This record gives sequence, structure tokens and C-alpha cells, in this order.
Amino acid sequence: NKLKSSLTKTRKSFTEKIEQLVIGYADINEECLDELEEILISADVGVHTTMKLMDDVRAGIKKKEINSPQDLQPFLIKRIGEILSTGEDKACIAQTGPTVLLVIGVNGVGKTTTIGKLAKYYKNKNKSVILAAADTFRAAAIDQLQIWGNRANADVIAHTEGADPAAVVFDALKAAISRKADILIIDTAGRLHTKANLMDELNKIYRVIKREIPDAPHETLLILDATTGQNAIHQAELFTKAAPISGVILTKLDGTAKGGVVIGIKEQLAMPVKWIGVGEGEDDLQPFDAEDFATALFE
Ligand code: GDP
Repeated sequence: NKLKSSLTKTRKSFTEKIEQLVIGYADINEECLDELEEILISADVGVHTTMKLMDDVRAGIKKKEINSPQDLQPFLIKRIGEILSTGEDKACIAQTGPTVLLVIGVNGVGKTTTIGKLAKYYKNKNKSVILAAADTFRAAAIDQLQIWGNRANADVIAHTEGADPAAVVFDALKAAISRKADILIIDTAGRLHTKANLMDELNKIYRVIKREIPDAPHETLLILDATTGQNAIHQAELFTKAAPISGVILTKLDGTAKGGVVIGIKEQLAMPVKWIGVGEGEDDLQPFDAEDFATALFE
């Protein structure tokens, strides 16, 4: 299956190394534990989460739940499975009226592509979709969104380059309400180097949304690029200061060895992972399922 093949490199850098570790040691000693720590760190699980897992392992040894290297693997599978399945990962849908999805993230993480994939996903479920091109900073971003909109057969609300993003959002909300759209997906600019501007812009967009639809946005989705590993966690920390994030979409899990970052996002940031990107195609977006993910990682 697609998820399993996407995680091939992560499995090589993580699961297979743990299997080798188990074979390589007769007893659990400090050297064996150091090596385990190395494996977790190099799979981009993150320092914080690695330390937590190592504490768990040491406690497991004390409690005699872990008596030999062979016991390490099932112990870790169980513990990581628990971390992955914390929190509500299911995407939220409005009770009445349009579901508003506000999409944020740094340029290049795959924001536009992901919005296109989301549009396609909901279209396939017979939902009507409108896209709002509120990244008005780059003309290319508006064009790209139009292309994805055409592909998914979704209307795109766009102004010209340099227009006020909040005005685009206002028009898109009006259109979504009057056309009785099911889903409105809002693209936003991702210039993190002008952090103050970004926060102002997001705040303004937020206020416009709340004024038109008080219980929206139903999701504020942060797009993170799995290939950036720990940097993704750092970005998430910065963005939490700009907007209340309801979930993460982790892109580019295919072809990276850094898939362990999912564990760090869930454990360290306690953020739900709502979707994962597993390729460049329009169907390469999957709802995140903790059990499927753990199975694909370990089996
Ligand atoms: P944006 O600047 O954040 O809007 O990024 P784009 O949507 O333009 O995507 C940047 C690049 O990442 C493009 O080449 C996409 O095809 C690629 N991309 C996006 N999502 C994925 C994914 O899940 N897997 C892979 N392999 N590539 C992706």
C-alpha cells in the first residue's frame, strides 16, 4: 500500500535499525541503550521525545517489563503506538453552512499542492469546494491555486497580486455562503521572516472569518514538510504564536527518512496530525490514521 511504500526510508532509518540492535546485543547494557538513543535521534523523533522514550525504557527495565533486547521492540512499538494515538486526528466539519479551513505554513512546504489535494478529496466526496487565494504576496501562488482549482473543479476566489488578503477572504466567505458551498479552503502567505506582518495578516483574516461565521475557522491547519525534520517542529512552535492551530498536515513523507518527526509532533507539540502527504499527485493525501501509521512503520 501507498503509506507503507512512502515510509520505506523511514523504516530503514528506524525500524530496521532497532531490529539490528536487538540482534546485536545479548543483554541490555548502557552501550545498547546509547545506541537506541542514537537511532531515535537520527530518525528525527526529536531530542525531547527521545529523552522521554529513553526514560520509559529505563522505567520498563526497572519494572522488569524489559528483560532482554528482544523485549525492547514490542515495548517501543506499544509506547510509540500510544503516543501516535493521542488526541483527535479526525478532520472537523461544520454542523451547518460552509466548513472553513484556514491553511497556513511557510513557502515551499507544499501548501498549494495540499490545498489542491484537499479540494480533490472533498470533491470526490461530492462536496462543493471554493478556494480562496489569500496569499496575494506572490502572483505565482495565485496562478498555482487557479491551476489546482481547475483540476479539482473548484471555484477560486482571487484578487490581483498585492491585494489585501483579508478582502479576498471576505469575498470568499460571501461566495461560500451565497453559493451554499460545503467547504471553503483559504490559502495564506507564508513569509515567516516577516513574522510581525504574518501575525497581523493572520489576525486580520481571523477577525474577518469570525465576523461572517462565528464558529469558523473549523480547522486551522499548519502545513509542515517532513523532509525538514526537526525544523518542522521549530516552525510549528513559531506558528502557534500567530494562530491557534487545530491540526497539522505533514507533507512529503514519501522519500524521506525523517518520518519519525510525526512522533515528535504528537508527543512534544501535542498537535493532532490530520492529514499526510505521500506524493506529488492529486490523490496523494491521506487522512492520518495512527494505527495504520504505526502498522506501516513497524510491520
Ligand atoms: P508551497 O510553496 O508551500 O505552496 O509549495 P508547493 O505546493 O508549490 O509545493 C512545493 C513542492 O513540493 C512541489 O514540487 C510539490 O509537488 C511538492 N510536494 C508537495 N507535497 C508533496 C508530497 O506530499 N510529496 C512529495 N514528494 N512532494 C510534494
